[in-house]
Amino acid sequence: ASPALSRIGLAGLAVMGQNLALNIAEKGFPISVYNRTTSKVDDTLDRAHREGLLPLTGHYTPRDFVLSLRRPRSIIILVKAGSPVDQTIAALSAHMDSGDTIIDGGNEWYENTERRLLQVADKGILYLGMGVSGGEEGARHGPSLMPGGSYQAYLNIEDIVKKVAAQVEDGPCVTYIGEGGSGNFVKMVHNGIEYGDMQLISEAYDMLKNVGGLSNAELGEIFSDWNRGELESFLIEITADIFRVKDEDGDGELVDKILDKTGMKGTGKWTVQQAAELSVAAPTIAASLDCRYLSGLKEERESAAEVLKEAGLKEEVGAVRSGIDKKRLIDDVRQALYASKICSYAQGMNLLRAKSVEKGWNLNLGELARIWKGGCIIRAVFLDRIKKAYRRNPNLASLVVDPEFAREMVQRQAAWRRVVGLAISAGISTPGMCASLAYFDTYRRARLPANLVQAQRDLFGAHTYERIDRSGSFHTEWTKLA
Ligand code: NAP
Repeated sequence: ASPALSRIGLAGLAVMGQNLALNIAEKGFPISVYNRTTSKVDDTLDRAHREGLLPLTGHYTPRDFVLSLRRPRSIIILVKAGSPVDQTIAALSAHMDSGDTIIDGGNEWYENTERRLLQVADKGILYLGMGVSGGEEGARHGPSLMPGGSYQAYLNIEDIVKKVAAQVEDGPCVTYIGEGGSGNFVKMVHNGIEYGDMQLISEAYDMLKNVGGLSNAELGEIFSDWNRGELESFLIEITADIFRVKDEDGDGELVDKILDKTGMKGTGKWTVQQAAELSVAAPTIAASLDCRYLSGLKEERESAAEVLKEAGLKEEVGAVRSGIDKKRLIDDVRQALYASKICSYAQGMNLLRAKSVEKGWNLNLGELARIWKGGCIIRAVFLDRIKKAYRRNPNLASLVVDPEFAREMVQRQAAWRRVVGLAISAGISTPGMCASLAYFDTYRRARLPANLVQAQRDLFGAHTYERIDRSGSFHTEWTKLA
């Protein structure tokens, strides 16, 4: 008799694919796996064997792999984004039939997913672009999953993804996101928000270390303490852990030995590009991207430190440091971090809404906050509050005007301004916190100096202006009147 067919297949057995395959097997779904370089199939089989995960079988050619699946077949692809996905689809779809489903779990540009969706539809194959967040651990033990594309395709794998995703008290961290490339787009913005969170945390660290004079041991304590309150989240938790890790090859802690150059793979840049395309202000996310670019200029920064007298900066820091109350600084930085974070999430959510309107995706922002509560890198207790804010009012113009968040922002203002003010006097750059505060201060002003910009535009370009006291469009011959 032929061997039993698998319920699902997974192609691409690097970090993410291998771990997700084991997770699926562990939940009891018979799974076939395949990888272009076949040694990875053997590695995965070995690991499955060691972990006692029996319903996993390895296959060495696209054909054997596809034919090992029960029909209608569902195959998750987890390869490098871009042309490797096209090549993998070509190799697999040659053996697939109408009604089968392909799910790309990579960090793919959403338009590529929309192109592929149409391309495979010619063969009757259904397609999903599914954002997967949570890194290696998430993939293995429960990620946050953001599947978008064909709804029928989602239904084909719903039983699996609901079991495999992280579980929180209000359900599994997965939901059908919407049509087209919406799943990839939502994952992209999730990553943009993640850039913002990481930047803001690094600024809090910078202030506490360089203005507060805190040791790594103290920083570990503070972040652990913060992780028991409103900031409780995966990123705050791992930050506390990082401060405690000793350097195995030398004195002190490893964090101090790490070169200050941040890598990136593109989702933050795409988020900022999309914000610009859609005329959505996302200054905190943009500031965190700019910081990654500046961090990359290590040598330039080293020479600039001489030309622009970083030595002088040390005196400024010293002057500020001598006058501060350490306990109060710690509490102020916590509040500044929290308020800045709310502004950053408000930007990300508004970007999602703008795209949803443009594409007709009908995104449910509260539900997105819910599926980010577990599994993913930005998981945090306060996402439950974001979920509730959008449930209270799905048409909320901005998170910062939700009555609960608005109250918190207003309460934290004084601390927030003290931290940013101190940073500016000390010459410590806090671009994320400053961008968030400027966003808040701009958004809540009923009248901005934009009237002057309009006057200038009308003077030099006859672009016309509107008036506050009459309706219509006006032009003035400014130079004749001046
Ligand atoms: P990766 O390093 O991005 O990609 C390696 C995999 O891609 C290998 O299986 C490799 O096969 C395959 N591959 C590369 N070029 C190929 C080609 N031309 N044809 C067929 N296969 C090809 O793997 P990853 O880190 O596991 O990530 C997979 C996807 O998940 C990516 O889109 C990534 O952005 C996304 N993601 C990653 C993380 C993470 O924490 N790593 C988190 C979330 C999402 P060979 O072994 O044959 O080279």
